[in-house]
Amino acid sequence: MIFKSINPFSQLTIGEYEVLTNAQLNQKLQLSEQAFKNWKQTTFKQRADMMLRLASILREKKLELGLLITNEMGKVLSESISEVEKSAGNCDFYAQNAEQFLKDEYYNTPFKSMSVYDPMGAVFAIMPWNYPFWQVLRYAAPAIMAGNVTLLKHASNVIGCAKAIENVFLEAGFPEGVFQQITIEIPQIESVIASNIVQGVTLTGSEMAGSSVASLAGKHIKKSVMELGGSDAFIVLNDANLENAATIAAQSRMLNAGQACICAKRFIVTEKVADEFTALFSQKIKSLHQGNPLQEGINMGPLARLDLAEKLAIQLEKSLLQGAKLIVGGERDDCNFKPTLIDFVDTNNIAFQEETFGPLATITRAKDAHDAVNIANNHRYGLGAAIWSDDRKNAYLLARKIEAGNVFVNSLVRSDSRIPFGGVKKSGYGRELGAIGIKEFMNVKSLIIE
Ligand code: NAP
Repeated sequence: MIFKSINPFSQLTIGEYEVLTNAQLNQKLQLSEQAFKNWKQTTFKQRADMMLRLASILREKKLELGLLITNEMGKVLSESISEVEKSAGNCDFYAQNAEQFLKDEYYNTPFKSMSVYDPMGAVFAIMPWNYPFWQVLRYAAPAIMAGNVTLLKHASNVIGCAKAIENVFLEAGFPEGVFQQITIEIPQIESVIASNIVQGVTLTGSEMAGSSVASLAGKHIKKSVMELGGSDAFIVLNDANLENAATIAAQSRMLNAGQACICAKRFIVTEKVADEFTALFSQKIKSLHQGNPLQEGINMGPLARLDLAEKLAIQLEKSLLQGAKLIVGGERDDCNFKPTLIDFVDTNNIAFQEETFGPLATITRAKDAHDAVNIANNHRYGLGAAIWSDDRKNAYLLARKIEAGNVFVNSLVRSDSRIPFGGVKKSGYGRELGAIGIKEFMNVKSLIIE
């Protein structure tokens, strides 16, 4: 069996990668076990030196690695380079803060008592293609700084990126087996989860993949973190600065050709300002230039795979049949999906109910702020959300009522190494990033001394 990397813009095959046999996979698991025995004994200083070196190699190679990302999954080159830089920043952050985050904690008891954080073994990660470097370094930098080792099963269309990441770990001086990428098929996943060395499973991807992998983790009693799909609400209230809201709305929906879990997907606008906001938003969308992601001046590339573009086209078609009104875009040429805006999307519409993973923005009209929050919460997903209002106090109070893992007021929803990130409801459970993220795959060992 061979995985192919197909450049979504040119449709040319740019890489072919053989899937590991079960015997080869077992060898990788054994190497992981060996590596953990030594790695868990290293000091934070030793780990941090390598992690900082890794960050600087990523920065040195940002153009080369950026080109690899763009050629494998199609995002514009400037976004690919920013992704490599952001990944490097995450390595710096955990190199500098892991020791502090994992220091012993003492309790007020008549005897001496404390919690110590012990690494658990290998963290097995199943990752998506949409941010092929960031998603990996987001979980791997903290896991490795904490003394765990890791195995990565990357999405089958970005194996070139997976191999490049493994190479930079080796180049930075990490011992073999601390970070390993494994090219495997979905049926091989269970044997990895079942293996004794694997003590944690983290998946970033769709709800369907999450449900399947979480079941396997449960079956084999392995701790898991699920970072799944989203359909983020972007609420615009009467007193919002509509120009700013429309600018960020276009950025939030169209970044990475609309292929981010935290892209705003449902624009919920109060009736009084809905026409004005829609006009501003459609102008911003019309000004985007879609085309060759390597070319300067282009700010949107193709979707990463043909099947993704086809799925989005079907969702759009059904949505229009269900009564939505097309404002901008709607056309598709292979993987190139024109940035699209539809209005009058009610809560039963497919484009409201399902995650749309591409450049399709929807407007849903709300009676007032209270109604807007109810509409936002009336959904299976709860990853991110944004509220736009010049009354920051009221916006804060409304933000407290939103059912999501991240809520931003008057700002773009984004992830940040310093702040925990994750979702609720069908968007998953557990957290990455910040001080909480690094503790997900640790044995919080209570130590009591009389
Ligand atoms: P996906 O199809 O679920 O794939 C993600 C990973 O899971 C890939 O490695 C994939 O392998 C694997 N996978 C797919 N089906 C599986 C199954 N039944 N059992 C085990 N593994 C399986 O998702 P995607 O299309 O790559 O990414 C888009 C989705 O990820 C969206 O829903 C998006 O919102 C979500 N996402 C969430 C976050 C977050 O932080 N919450 C971040 C980014 C993306 P193959 O490639 O071999 O199929």
